[in-house]
Amino acid sequence: MATMDKIFAGYASRQAVLEKSNNIFTKGVAWIEGELVPLAEARVPLLDEGFMHSDLTYDVPSVWDGRFFRLDDHMDRLEASCAKMRLKLPLPRQQVKDILVDMVAKSEIKDAFVELIVTRGLKGVRGHTPGEMFKNNLYMLIQPFVWVMDPGVQATGGAAVIARTVRRVPPGAIDPTVKNLQWGDLTRALFEAADRGATYPFLTDGDTNLTEGSGFNIILIKDGVLYSPDRGILHGVTRKSVMDVARSLDIEIRVETVPIELAYEADEVFMCTTAGGIMPITTLDGQPIQDGKVGTITKKIWDGYWAMHYDPKYSFAIQYDGTKQNGVAKNGKANGVNGVNGHV
Ligand SMILES: *Cc1c(COP(=O)(O)O)cnc(C)c1O
Repeated sequence: MATMDKIFAGYASRQAVLEKSNNIFTKGVAWIEGELVPLAEARVPLLDEGFMHSDLTYDVPSVWDGRFFRLDDHMDRLEASCAKMRLKLPLPRQQVKDILVDMVAKSEIKDAFVELIVTRGLKGVRGHTPGEMFKNNLYMLIQPFVWVMDPGVQATGGAAVIARTVRRVPPGAIDPTVKNLQWGDLTRALFEAADRGATYPFLTDGDTNLTEGSGFNIILIKDGVLYSPDRGILHGVTRKSVMDVARSLDIEIRVETVPIELAYEADEVFMCTTAGGIMPITTLDGQPIQDGKVGTITKKIWDGYWAMHYDPKYSFAIQYDGTKQNGVAKNGKANGVNGVNGHV
């Protein structure tokens, strides 16, 4: 797998450079109420409803080899999630993007996991309805790239189970298209997977169909056709990239109800998420999937997915040298607005 070796070798050499840096932000930086703080020192106000009731939505874009990947797709989803939750992004979208770019540049991190969290916030003095009572808050953080499946495992594939002690929360209870941190079902499933000697849980809808796993979407390939569940899941940006690559390869895509049975019959199985990309699964419920090797279509999608990160149609370069970019000066004051804060 030559492309995989090349991608991971580049990543390893950038990591080595990062480890030598004594910049206080290279291990991560958070933006809280307008201040940049080293990630390990970041604290949230206890009374924020995001913490008290998980009343929030969030999103996770990424930076790869110094380029922001599909940032606008993530911002679109975040804004759509906010609308569904009756939350409002406390700052204009462009300003949020500018701050993120500035944070990445300041951290020197070339491959980053980026997170934005919009919470209901703290109770204000005025208002009677839940919408009026709270000042929505925004928290942002950047840290070195996170791997749901380690690079070393991606060449041979990981082990998954179909969870049987817990189901995915139904869409009528918690809308799965709103990225959320109500991980009760996903956490239970992660423990079940570990108990059964695997790493990754695939959750069902409780009615014999597949949904998704703990922070990743599931893709099955059978007879050259790519299947992905149409409901009960987050519409992943990585899943969207998978479909973009599949389309370019003339692979048929079916987004429909996916019965659990299809997972046991599949020729190839992989998971996908921003934090790790395309992650092949070669063992399901303790049994090898077909010959137990990473499939040919999975490999092609893997290569296509990482190639997209260098395509200006999907990514843009970050200027790390401190020159002005996107209206953000080196001092981090976005567009001349001093003392920006995250409140409405
Ligand atoms: C974030 C997440 C995914 C993957 O979404 P991407 O946009 O591809 O990173 C899938 N499922 C759940 C539950 C998630 O939280």
